[in-house]
Amino acid sequence: MPKSWSFSPAYPSRRRPAILAAVLLVTILGVMPASALSLIRDAETEELLRSYATPIFTVAGLNPRSVNIYLVNDNQINAFVSGGQNIFFTTELLLELDTPGEIKGVIAHEVGHIAGGHLARTQDAMKGTGALAIASMVLGVGVAALGAPEVGMGVMTGGTHVAGRNFLAYSRSQESSADQAAATYLDSIGESGEGLLEVMHKFSGQELLSEQRQDPFVRSHPVSLDRIGALEARLEKSAFRARKDPPELIEAHHRMQGKLYGFVKPTAQTMRKFPASDTSIKAKIARTVAYYLQGDLDKGLKEIDALIAQSPDNPFYHELKGQMLFENGRIRESIAPHSKAVELKPDSPLLRVNLAQAMLTLEDPALLKPSLEALELSMRQDPEIAIGWHQLAIAYARDGQEGMAALATAERFFRASGGDAPGRPSPNRRDALLQATRALKFLPAGSPAR
Ligand SMILES: [Zn+2]
Repeated sequence: MPKSWSFSPAYPSRRRPAILAAVLLVTILGVMPASALSLIRDAETEELLRSYATPIFTVAGLNPRSVNIYLVNDNQINAFVSGGQNIFFTTELLLELDTPGEIKGVIAHEVGHIAGGHLARTQDAMKGTGALAIASMVLGVGVAALGAPEVGMGVMTGGTHVAGRNFLAYSRSQESSADQAAATYLDSIGESGEGLLEVMHKFSGQELLSEQRQDPFVRSHPVSLDRIGALEARLEKSAFRARKDPPELIEAHHRMQGKLYGFVKPTAQTMRKFPASDTSIKAKIARTVAYYLQGDLDKGLKEIDALIAQSPDNPFYHELKGQMLFENGRIRESIAPHSKAVELKPDSPLLRVNLAQAMLTLEDPALLKPSLEALELSMRQDPEIAIGWHQLAIAYARDGQEGMAALATAERFFRASGGDAPGRPSPNRRDALLQATRALKFLPAGSPAR
């Protein structure tokens, strides 16, 4: 299970007050958890996963826009579907899967569970609950109250103190039916199902292990020789079995893995796994992140500048550079890379929130309106960006819009709420209610916000 503030050992000192303040808040509320769960927001990873998932959702008859994909920062291998059409991947699973085809296989399999209606009733009951609350209930991890604001690849902690494993294993027949559905989906979009088979082989040894030693992914999706055999037979009939992932997707996969590794693993481990002699793209990115997290900003900047020189049109390199500068207090310098990222990818609310946050942090009155508008647009497009609500509240407050500031804060708490213990509403829900009540005092009658 992840430690509290998984990223905190690497936080530059500038950010510590915010973290301490958050920890203090948690202590006051009396729900200091033994461990905290975090969802990771990263535009690059999300875009990649969504590009794999969209055609699969569509062919399965699901509306891709109503399906959400979430990244859980967790060192256990797991993927699950919960609360309706939400798919969760742990970072460890994404690091374990070697090819885009394997990820597509897992997505297709999970979609098979959604389309087949295999969701346990307890999980269906979570419909309409916040993603973080769902993840915390499913994983049985206590969650801190809303944490320090983050940028770029940031953690979003929050939610509930509810613990309890609501996550049930699928039956053998459900597993087989999800596999067959997955193979059909992949076939109809001209993709190979070989990746799914590879994933099964990867985990097949574990069926003999005790439950505690199995990866959670295997516990919930039991692998058996029968299952492998049935998928084998199904793939024999596929015209696309031999189809390989295109080289650009394989590179995107390595970029994603390098970044995830750099962010979620201890920096010393990253440096051991990816020594300077390793010139692969994955190693370069992992090192870049590790250098900056351990405070070697100059080395990190050298690496990222080299990557940018190689691929000047990659918005995520500029985003990473912006984050590195911002988090080291070089706010003004972070504006240019963050702007470049937005220019290259204007449809990404996450990238726009980074830029708006940097502009807002400069406290330049001329930048208040542009950052406020950027944040309003971003939150309309993606209301799940916790840091965006936080920044928007700051912007409204500075603009003298107290009611809107309270409303934005209420949204932020509400998004992380859910999973109330019997007779005791979650701290975040309580705070959301307080802020919403406060907003009502200021918002004019008849206004849409009211
Ligand atoms: Zn399954």
